[in-house]
Formats: sequence, structure tokens, C-alpha cells
Amino acid sequence: MVTRPFWEATAEGRFLIQRCAGCGTAIFYPRPACPHCGGGELAWEAASGAATVHTFSIARRPTHPKFTGDEPYVVAIVELAEGPHVTTNIVECDPDDVQIGMAVQLVFDEVGDDGYALPFFRPA
Ligand SMILES: [Zn+2]
Repeated sequence: MVTRPFWEATAEGRFLIQRCAGCGTAIFYPRPACPHCGGGELAWEAASGAATVHTFSIARRPTHPKFTGDEPYVVAIVELAEGPHVTTNIVECDPDDVQIGMAVQLVFDEVGDDGYALPFFRPA
């Protein structure tokens, strides 16, 4: 499964992206070939965890049973410092304080029974 290295790293508090050996493009979500040049030689590397809010919405009903009781919460697309966009939640702040362009930092949810953790972002 192409995403396995990503999820295994979450348990260690690392957010892995891929980088194409052919063209240098940083890639997320994990996939078997580069979406820019089609090359198949992709290496894993740890992202810095620095990002900015690209866009967001406030969820007032849970979008998944796991999030029941957390509403209202912020569902966002953030832009990693390395370039790729990531769909995530913005946590540890009032949803009304989130703004497009604000600096955020990676933080992991607790490791679940499956041994993986969800990557979230909080204000930097
Ligand atoms: Zn490429």
C-alpha cells in the first residue's frame, strides 16, 4: 500500500511527503508516480511542519463520527512550506480566529488503536 510509510511515520510524529527524483517536485498525498512529470522514482522525506492556511470552512456538524462533539471545528487546506496542499483540521484555537494566510504548525492527534495519528495544524 503506497500510503503505509506515511501512516507509520505519523505514530513517530513525522509527516512524510514524497519528492520526485526526476523533477524535484514535492508531493502529497502519497502516490506511486509524480503528478508533474510522471516519474516513478519518489523518495520519502520529512516535512518541516510549517504551513499556511490556503482556505478553510467551519464545520458545525461532524464530518466523520470521530469528530462528534468537537464541532464547531475548522476543516482547512493548508499549504506546506515545501509546497503541497494538505486537507486537515486547524486545532487549539477559536474557529473564528482562523484566517487565510495565517501561519500554522503541524501537531499530531493522539495515536489511535490502529497505531496511526491524524496530522492537524495549530496557529504557529
Ligand atoms: Zn516529477
